[in-house]
Amino acid sequence: MDIKSIDKTYIANTYARADITFVKGKGSYLFDENGKKYLDFGSGIAVNTLGHANKKWSKAVKKQVGTLAHTSNLYYSEPCALLAKKLAEKVGEMKVFFSNSGAEANECAIKIARKYSFDKYGEGRAKIITLVNSFHGRTVTTLSATGQDNFHTNFMPFTEGFDYAVANDFSDLSGKVDGTVCAIMLELVQGEGGVNALSNEFVEKVQNLCKEKDILLIVDEVQTGNGRTGTLYAYQGYGISPDIVSTAKGLAGGLPLGATIAFGKCEGVLTPGTHGSTFGGNPVACAGAIAVLEQLDDNLLASVRAKSEKIVSELTKLKKVKSVSGKGFMLGVETDGITATDAVAKLREKGLIVLTAKTKIRLLPPLNISDKELSEGLEIIKEVLK
Ligand SMILES: *Cc1c(COP(=O)(O)O)cnc(C)c1O
Repeated sequence: MDIKSIDKTYIANTYARADITFVKGKGSYLFDENGKKYLDFGSGIAVNTLGHANKKWSKAVKKQVGTLAHTSNLYYSEPCALLAKKLAEKVGEMKVFFSNSGAEANECAIKIARKYSFDKYGEGRAKIITLVNSFHGRTVTTLSATGQDNFHTNFMPFTEGFDYAVANDFSDLSGKVDGTVCAIMLELVQGEGGVNALSNEFVEKVQNLCKEKDILLIVDEVQTGNGRTGTLYAYQGYGISPDIVSTAKGLAGGLPLGATIAFGKCEGVLTPGTHGSTFGGNPVACAGAIAVLEQLDDNLLASVRAKSEKIVSELTKLKKVKSVSGKGFMLGVETDGITATDAVAKLREKGLIVLTAKTKIRLLPPLNISDKELSEGLEIIKEVLK
C-alpha cells in the first residue's frame, strides 16, 4: 500500500488532504515524493516561522533531543525556564504557562479569566465575550468560544458562558457587556475567519471598556504571534496592554508548544494544582522556541513589514485581486473571477503552496524569506491572478 492508501485506511477521516505527500523541506522550499519543488507560502499554517530545517533551530533541537527530551513538570527544566525568561525580555514582566497547542493555550487563558473573577467577585461573573467569525480551537470549550455557528453542532452540550459580538462594532460589543462578564477575548487579525484585522479604534475602545470595568482583555495570538504580523506580538503593533495573551503555532518553529502569558493582576491567579500539563513546556519544544525567538529580532521584523508592503502593492494591481487584507506576513487575498479554492490548486500546480481562509487565499510565508524567493512567489501568483 502507498502512503495515501495507508492514511485513508487507518487515520480518522477529519482532514480533506491535498493529493500530495511532502518528504523534505529546506528554507522556504518543500519537496514532494516525486521530487517536485514548491515554494512554501503556507508555513504549515503559520508554524514554520523560519522556514524548514532552519540551521540554528535544528541544531538547538537536535542537541536537546539527544540530551534530555522529557522529564515532566514535576522537576525544573533549563530550556523551559530560559524560554520563559526570553519571553519576559520581549514582552515585559509576566508569568507564563506552557502547554502544547493553541486550543490548550486558550483553555488556560479562559481558566485564568474565570478564576480571576471568581477569586475577586465570586460566582455569576464568568461570561466571556468573543467575536463573530473568531476561531479559538477544537476542544469543547474553545469551540464554544469560537464565534461561528457551524462549529456549535454535533458535540452538545457545549461549555456555557460565551457570547459573540460583531468585530469592529463597538456598540454591539458594549451592549453585550453586563455584570456577568469577566473577559473579552479577541484575535487582532482573525485568521481562520478570513484574515480580517480589527481596527485600531475598536481595539482601543475595547481596552478602555475592559479597564473601566475590571474585565480582562485576552488576546488570542495563536496565529498572529511570534512575528507573524510584523511585530513580535500583534498587540504590540496595536499599542495595547492585554491582561492575558495566548500563543502557539509559530512559537517553537515547527514543534508543538503553547504559551499563555499572564500580565499584572493575572500573574498570580494560577496556584499549585489549579492547572497542569504532562508535556507542556517540553524541553525539546522549548529549545526550538528559544532558537526562534533569538532570531526574531527588530531587523527581521522590520523586513517582514517592508516585504508585506511590497506583496500588498504588487497584488492589488492584479486583475483578479479584489482586495488584500491582514498584516505583515498574514495576508488574505479576495479574488475576482476565480475562487480561492481554484486559485490554490492552480498555484500548487505551478509550485506555490498557499492556504485559504473562508473565501480568501491566505498567505503565510516564512518570516525569513529572501527577496528573491518572495519575487519568485509573486511571479507565480501574477500568472494565476493576472
Ligand atoms: C490555530 C488556532 C487555534 C487553535 O490552535 P491548535 O494548535 O490547532 O489547537 C486557536 N486560535 C487561533 C487564532 C488559531 O489560529
